[in-house]
Amino acid sequence: MAQADVPTVPGVDTSRRVKYIRSVDQVPNIPESEREKLRKVSEKYVFRANDYYLGLINWNDPNDPIKQLIIPRTEELNDWGELDASKESLVTVTRGVQHKYPHTVLLLCNEVCGAYCRYCFRKRLFMDENDEVTLDVSEGLKYIADNPAVSNVLLTGGDPLLMSTRRLTEIFDALRKIPHVRIIRIGSKMPAFDPWRVQRDEALQEAFRKYSQPDRRIYLMAHFDHPRELTAEAIAGLDCYMRNGVICVNQCPLIAGINDNAEILSELYQQLAWAGCPPYYLFQGRPTAGNEPYAVPIVRGWQIFHDANLKGSGLARRPRYVMSHETGKIEIVAVDDARIYLRYHRAKDESDRGRFMVYKRNDDAVWMDDLEPADAESPKFAPSPVLDYVDGPD
Ligand code: SF4
Repeated sequence: MAQADVPTVPGVDTSRRVKYIRSVDQVPNIPESEREKLRKVSEKYVFRANDYYLGLINWNDPNDPIKQLIIPRTEELNDWGELDASKESLVTVTRGVQHKYPHTVLLLCNEVCGAYCRYCFRKRLFMDENDEVTLDVSEGLKYIADNPAVSNVLLTGGDPLLMSTRRLTEIFDALRKIPHVRIIRIGSKMPAFDPWRVQRDEALQEAFRKYSQPDRRIYLMAHFDHPRELTAEAIAGLDCYMRNGVICVNQCPLIAGINDNAEILSELYQQLAWAGCPPYYLFQGRPTAGNEPYAVPIVRGWQIFHDANLKGSGLARRPRYVMSHETGKIEIVAVDDARIYLRYHRAKDESDRGRFMVYKRNDDAVWMDDLEPADAESPKFAPSPVLDYVDGPD
């Protein structure tokens, strides 16, 4: 029996096709009185969902986390944040190609996602004037081929798994012809939005088996935010990636109203570990325009992360809590009564690598730039906008 023919989770339909929904008017559970307001929000920050994902919402709960994740909120129109909060434009070397750390290049190869997370930090890519994504990755491939230090390539966007299997296979093939590229990462929320993307596509499964090789793997950087997304179908989907040679890990932001709760986060981490997709990063939400209702202050975030990590086995307690700042990935290491302790996990500037920094405790701060140094060695960065809304429903 070929590997692709092995049944995954018994009783799970592997062939379903989700039905896309592109307007809040197509969501009958949203009361007519709300729709007009939400339509205005979705004119600015696009709405897209599907029947499967909307089916996970408990509409009797006004604070339902899946609803918060996918249904627009009027507070998104508050004047807050920047569209490119971590200044990705500064590390864009050519259209659709970001190079911030020596070993890793990002190829922004698709400008569409299976659905749109309301708190997305790349929502600018879904706007009409976006020119940061390129469907033609040939320049990016040449850039990677010319840079022997690049051993990791992250396919991102948008969601690469929304591309056709033919295009994905062409990209895998081209990357495998570059000897110094060892790891191909796919950043995707399709395992949560459409668990059948991989299960119904034998050609994609075959491509994974061919291009995820013993000494140069394909990694799925999955994006589950809440344990309710880990349905039997989603777990069967993860199983299908793994059976076809893909290594799975999970990364997600900390989002008010969705997973800003130690019990929820710990439950998510444990279920992910059980499913073979252990947590890798927890991101501090970037102060991105439209994201004020989803922001969690750093100190509260650290307390949630700390408490969540008191439970579960070691495999469920592996993530690092980091800020993807324009200067690097900054780990939030600890908080005490007076200070916040940070360390560069990855740094854009070589001299910052591993650097430890200490800041005065500020319970309202949501981003690196809001913090005041507690010693002469720690740098001060420019401030981000003031946060008026800090409470997520616990
Ligand atoms: S899947 Fe990722 S890129 Fe797409 S909307 Fe969600 S957070 Fe943004």
